[in-house]
Amino acid sequence: AAEEGFDIEDVEGAIEEAGHGPLPVLAVVGRPNVGKSTLVNRIIGRREAVVEDKPGVTRDRVTYEAEWAGRRFKVVDTGGWEQDVLGIDASVAAQAEYAIEAADAVVFVVDAKVGATDTDQAVVRLLRKAGKPVVLCANKVDGPSGEADATYLWSLGLGEPHPVSALHGRGTGDMLDAVLEALPEAPEQTFGTAVGGPRRIALIGRPNVGKSSLLNQVAGEERVVVNEIAGTTRDPVDELIQLGGITWKFVDTAGIRKRVHLQQGADYYASLRTAAAVEKAEVAVILIDASESISVQDQRIVTMAVEAGRAVVVAFNKWDTLDEERRYYLEREIETELGQIAWAPRVNVSARTGRHMEKLVPAIETALAGWETRVPTGRLNAFLGELVSAHPHPVRGGKQPRILFGTQAGTKPPRFVLFASGFIEAGYRRFIERRLREEFGFDGTPIHISVRVRE
Ligand code: GDP
Ligand code: GDP
Repeated sequence: AAEEGFDIEDVEGAIEEAGHGPLPVLAVVGRPNVGKSTLVNRIIGRREAVVEDKPGVTRDRVTYEAEWAGRRFKVVDTGGWEQDVLGIDASVAAQAEYAIEAADAVVFVVDAKVGATDTDQAVVRLLRKAGKPVVLCANKVDGPSGEADATYLWSLGLGEPHPVSALHGRGTGDMLDAVLEALPEAPEQTFGTAVGGPRRIALIGRPNVGKSSLLNQVAGEERVVVNEIAGTTRDPVDELIQLGGITWKFVDTAGIRKRVHLQQGADYYASLRTAAAVEKAEVAVILIDASESISVQDQRIVTMAVEAGRAVVVAFNKWDTLDEERRYYLEREIETELGQIAWAPRVNVSARTGRHMEKLVPAIETALAGWETRVPTGRLNAFLGELVSAHPHPVRGGKQPRILFGTQAGTKPPRFVLFASGFIEAGYRRFIERRLREEFGFDGTPIHISVRVRE
């Protein structure tokens, strides 16, 4: 590194930063209007507000990356939808349940000016049951005179209430310090405790693509009740299912059940559920209804899995209904709409007839293998050296930036850091990614490439 003009400490720092594993997840929960979205904006340091005046506004995005005091984590915002016909307590509880399930720690937001309501108490019961670390945020304490309101919240039995003004930023630093103490360094529930246990699969896809049918098909019995009302039974959240002689954990299968009452805000609810399932899983099996055009919603789900850095398999379902014409157009759509996961193993299945179910496991195994691949530094640099001399970066402004060396800083998914003598254009980065895939076979996994430029 030194002879290439890089300081060894910079190189080590870059590798460490790029090599971080999956980030721990913080969920922000509480009833409507306590200031969850305002707080999330503050935590992620975003200027433009996601706060909307209209009730029932749905948003797609529920997970954001944040950093505080040099530590990075993910934030799940549950502020996106309003109560439904089940009534406020049940709907707040239902959304909080998903978020808590997927989280390593929780910020519970209460409006200190209003005090604890029955709905807040319902969430407290959930939090107790989940046993995750909780940071109690007494929000809307905009000045010193509000501090007394916050102290009343000791009565919730969740420890110290942190007086905060999400709107003005008052107290948020102290609260975030408490959050960092509550968050594990690495996400325990996802990657720590489960090491060596069954591999975790999230079966995701927009409504009606056939998720519950597929789960029935692979589980071999009618265990997923369609149109079941949530809350009437205690659903198992994760299910162990034998497939291809291996036991897999299908995460968040309760979320696959139909929740007919969730009409209002259903899209947001589905997004939250998908994000939660993806966070808990190692591999996402994305189900797409092959009989219909690939939609923006399908693409959003793909993006969620890719951005979360999970292994990905795409399953085109309802294959039994396809005629020749539809098959033709589907192939064209896949090329134009699903280019971002051209590397994902694909299976064409029918949850109804059981067609090609046996191909699911090999596809999942391929994706997981790609996700865990580590390329030794020597091999990587031999490859980069040849690549760079055979296909040099285009000359720009009389200069020719060069990739000098690189290393794989992490896996799950594979993360590379390349060190360069000048700015490397996006097209050339894509070219390198393509060649890395050809050479080392990262089927079924997103790969991250960051480039450091010598000063
Ligand atoms: P959510 O439904 O829990 O996500 O709540 P929002 O973030 O949408 O906030 C609800 C309302 O409370 C908005 O009008 C916010 O401007 C307001 N609000 C949020 N945080 C604060 C705060 O710290 N102080 C005051 N005074 N108002 C706040
Ligand atoms: P989910 O909302 O993704 O869980 O979808 P469901 O499993 O409830 O399926 C939605 C509808 O599609 C139901 O009427 C299913 O019977 C039907 N369906 C699911 N898979 C298939 C399939 O492979 N072929 C056909 N023809 N219909 C299917």
